Amino acid sequence: MSARAAAASVVDPEIRVITIDELGILRAVEEDPATGRVTVTITPTYTGCPAMDVIRADIRRALAVAGHPDAEVRTVYSPSWSTDWISDSGRTKLAAAGIAPPAPVPAAGVVPLTLAVRCPHCGSPETEQVSRFGSTACKALWRCRSCSEPFDHLKAL
Ligand SMILES: [Zn+2]
Repeated sequence: MSARAAAASVVDPEIRVITIDELGILRAVEEDPATGRVTVTITPTYTGCPAMDVIRADIRRALAVAGHPDAEVRTVYSPSWSTDWISDSGRTKLAAAGIAPPAPVPAAGVVPLTLAVRCPHCGSPETEQVSRFGSTACKALWRCRSCSEPFDHLKAL
């Protein structure tokens, strides 16, 4: 397996249905053809998420299993991660898991509109935030007023 494919297969430890590639955390995978050394560049998602140490360890483990034991994981903070980096397939998987994907972040200088958060269970826009903190620091807990189901909503950044 290529180093790129191995790193891209690592799932987010908090949202286990989505890979770090689909989440937009995985920025680059470079392999030195002379030494075989792999350098992986990642950008953390939400500050305060304790998941990055786990992700780093998971990347090194996945690379070792794929035959790339000599690997370094670099963390890059600029440009900062945005929920816009979540791929279309990632958004589909989040919705299927009952996690409402965040709305795209408006461009700088644009007055943000309050967008309705749609219920991932029934699609109703009649939803309300129950708690700013859901099952992890990255997610807020919402509830649907149509079907009464609670769901996690990824905070848009
Ligand atoms: Zn609903």
